[in-house]
Amino acid sequence: MNYLKVSEFINSTDEMPFLLGAFFGRYQFSNDNKFIYTLSTYKASKKLSADENDKFYLASKDEYLKRLNLQSELPWHKNENKNIKNAEFIFILENDLNLTPSKFYSKLYIKILSSDFISNKAEMEAKKKFTRAFFELRGSIDTSRPLLAKDYFYNNVSELKRISLFFDNIGISINVLNINFRDLQEQFISGENKRNTQLRVNLYWYLSQLGLINPYKARIVKKIYNIDYNDSNNGVYTFECQIPEFSNNSFADRVNFYASRILNQDLTQRDIDNLRKELNFDDNVNQDFKRDMNIINVVRFQTKDECAACKNIYDIKDRSFALRKHPQRWYTEIHHFVSVGKEKQLDVIENLTKLCPTCHRALGKGKTNPDYQKELISNIIDANPNNFEFACLIFESNNKEEIIQKVYENLK
Ligand SMILES: [Zn+2]
Repeated sequence: MNYLKVSEFINSTDEMPFLLGAFFGRYQFSNDNKFIYTLSTYKASKKLSADENDKFYLASKDEYLKRLNLQSELPWHKNENKNIKNAEFIFILENDLNLTPSKFYSKLYIKILSSDFISNKAEMEAKKKFTRAFFELRGSIDTSRPLLAKDYFYNNVSELKRISLFFDNIGISINVLNINFRDLQEQFISGENKRNTQLRVNLYWYLSQLGLINPYKARIVKKIYNIDYNDSNNGVYTFECQIPEFSNNSFADRVNFYASRILNQDLTQRDIDNLRKELNFDDNVNQDFKRDMNIINVVRFQTKDECAACKNIYDIKDRSFALRKHPQRWYTEIHHFVSVGKEKQLDVIENLTKLCPTCHRALGKGKTNPDYQKELISNIIDANPNNFEFACLIFESNNKEEIIQKVYENLK
């Protein structure tokens, strides 16, 4: 059989949000490294009677495959390979580039970050396809609590962090996904629970915002949670249910979520109150499927007013000025450490850094001599391990000199 080549998949100008979401959710390599595949699977639930399962479970498979293909636009296949376990349906790429898993992940991540649907607010349906593929293909309906749960696999810290794309770029509120990022990271670093953990999404939120494509899962929801569904014309089962309200603590949760990724420290109630004021944040923020916090502002207000490029040489007071509204604070600018392309800003926390206005200017393409620019880049790397880690992923290298060179060449 002829499969899509990974080179075509990665270089295609087609957006393919569903397939990107599927591979981002789970990818595996065949033993001989010749194929890379993503998969979907689901089992019969014990909460449905044997009669119901006879009637719906097996019968759901063809219909599900049809809907999978409708979302994906490229065909999935029934898995007939016994070496591939726990896969009902698979989508296979031919590894014509001889990629290793980490190189594949890196190319996939860059493709996702630079896709139009990620940065374009109007591309709501594509964002939904991407999210559905990530969560539903291997997710299962929890029959005791209203959650959709899926196994979360990761091979390294970068992959562990990939879930933040849904908050930073897709615009899902962290309140719908109960995840303690710091705990996860600590487990990862300590080596316990390295391979997989569970992600749990609020089911009511999921149903009201995304619906389901799997007829059997829709049936389980109807039976267990007594929520009826309609079959929409784009092949998605839509549910009439209320978007849940989240508690007032959610703002603090959200801020802590972001802050734990940049600062790795707890915030006091006072920090949170200040931040709420700074961000002009309304408690009654809706839990809709849209970006609810500007991560650039979080970095601006949450990190110390110092310049990552020159803090070891100058005091910020000598490089900037106090803000009139906040006399304790110094004016700084947020810089994207890695620039890719002309318009694509890689807006993820890991790629942002705080600079004084002078260093920020100095890092414009051709603004000053190359050696000085490289020195500034090197200083940022030393100050912000997150930036270095992110650049390593983007440029597929762990070598500091090489990363400095690449970041320099990509200055805008
Ligand atoms: Zn500076």
